[in-house]
This record gives sequence, C-alpha cells and structure tokens, in this order.
Amino acid sequence: MTGIMYRKVEILDRIELRQSTIKDWLSCPLMFRFRHVLKLDPSYRSLAAIHGSALHLCIHRLHTNGFTQDIPSLYENALEELMGEETHIPINWKNEPGKDVLILKTHGEELLKGYVNHKRNLTDHILYSEVKFRVGLKGMILTGTIDQLRQHPDGGLELVDIKSGMQRPIKRALNRDWQLNLYAYALRHGELLINGSWVRIRMKVMRTSIYFLRAHEIYKRDGKYGKKGCQKGGPWISCEKPSWEFIQFRAELLNIIKMMTKDWPFPNTASCGFCAYREPCDQRPSIHLSHGYRRISHLIPQPEIKAFRKGE
Ligand code: SF4
Repeated sequence: MTGIMYRKVEILDRIELRQSTIKDWLSCPLMFRFRHVLKLDPSYRSLAAIHGSALHLCIHRLHTNGFTQDIPSLYENALEELMGEETHIPINWKNEPGKDVLILKTHGEELLKGYVNHKRNLTDHILYSEVKFRVGLKGMILTGTIDQLRQHPDGGLELVDIKSGMQRPIKRALNRDWQLNLYAYALRHGELLINGSWVRIRMKVMRTSIYFLRAHEIYKRDGKYGKKGCQKGGPWISCEKPSWEFIQFRAELLNIIKMMTKDWPFPNTASCGFCAYREPCDQRPSIHLSHGYRRISHLIPQPEIKAFRKGE
C-alpha cells in the first residue's frame, strides 16, 4: 500500500484541498503523504493543538454568546469537547493527565481574560467569526475557515487570524503569508458558508492582522522584558496596506499545488520535533517510492535494511 506511487488525479482525489492540508505539505511533504494521501492516523494528538482549538472555540463562543460568560467554565467545556473527539488516537500527555489539564486551564483562562479585557475585542464589529470558505482555482476548489472578519466604522474590512503558538510572528512576514492571502483571495473571489448556504460576497480586505494570543500572558516575576503582573505585549501584528498581489499569490499557490500533487515526498527534518508520523517515517526504507527501488529491492540484504531502520 505505502509503496504505491500516485498520479496527480489520484492525489487530488484522495486529499482535501484545505488550508491545513497545504500547511502540512509546507511543514513536511513526507508527513503530508502519510496524513493526507495514505490517510494514516497520527500516533498521537498534541496537547498544544487541542489547546489551540479550544481557545479558538472559546473566542468564537465569546463573540456569539457574549463577553459576560464565565471564562473558566467556557474553557473547560471547550477542552472537554475537543478531548472527546478522535478518542481512538491517544493524547500525548506530558505529565499525569490531571496535572496537564490543570496547566492548560490556568493558561487558557489567562489568555481568554486578556482577550476579553482588550478593548478592541469588545468594541470592534465582528462581521464573521470562524466562517467557512470555498474558492475555485483552475478547476480545483480550496476550502478552509477564516477566524474573523472585522468591519471598522469607516467600512474598512480587517481580516484577523488568531495564533496561539509559542512564537510571536514577525510583521515582515505578513505580506507574504500565503494563508492570509488565501483568505483575502477567498473573500474577493470565493464564497462563504452563511446560515447553511454558500454566498458570494466579493469583499475587499483593507488590512490583514494576526492576533497573537500569547501576548496576554502575564509576567510572573520582574524581569528585563517586563514587570510582574504585566502582559507580555500587544496582541496585534498588522499589515496596513493590501500589498499582496493576487496574481502573484495565485501563481505561487498553483506552484505549491503542482508540487503537492507530484508524489515526491521528501522529508523536512525541521518539523520532526512535533511530528506524529515518526513511526512510518522510520520505516521509510520499505517505502519504495521509485520504480527503480522496486526493481532492485530484493538485492538489498535484509539485515542491512533492518540496521538502517534502527539508524545504525
Ligand atoms: S518525522 Fe520528520 S521527516 Fe518524518 S514525516 Fe515527520 S516531520 Fe517529516
């Protein structure tokens, strides 16, 4: 099964062209193959990913049901809901589960309280939150979810992507951020799923922003970066002008899809630290991804293959 090489139509048939699929390919083409083409389950679910999804869900519920909700129970319910999904895949606990859940709750509440107390989150008009999109590109359909679209009093639209990762994104990278550009492109040329129906909205975004949630973390002691009790910084990283070129973006995205749909799954070892496909990856010598290998594989002595798998 894993030794089969797929053609472009077969790959397109097997994968869903979602923003997360492209993200996985950019992170490691080999991992993309395991996850999306071969449809192997990951060996574990990461706590950071569950935490991030729980925070997104809470923020969506804050904007849907109001900011007066009880933050601890809001987070607790979202976390329980997400931990209850895909129960056949084990969670990668770092400590004893109860201790990890307590750490996540404390951290989640801290970030969400910071979000609720940030004035703009209360006063801005949120046009859409966690809205699904689809957009056509050369006969293919790309899908995904936009975190938020905010409308300012002057009518200007701001696209907001909420990040809960450890590392603060840099402003410079925003112009070239393919994910934000994909959202902006979809708002202009695609459709949104509103009240169960796909609606073409043709909206032009004036500003794209990343909302860095961890800026709401509180310093626990005095240090050279800040004083005890203060927030770690401002959450907004914005690109004021729509400096992307849709033509260039289209060309780049098509190039990415072109490479994704060739069965050339090279490893990107920079992503190994958080990869849940290490096991199939370690078995890789048995994935004869070229017809040439298939022709000569019977000539390679078995002990050599075993030693290679063990990394000897
Ligand atoms: S272990 Fe590393 S190289 Fe292998 S699939 Fe995962 S990220 Fe890619």
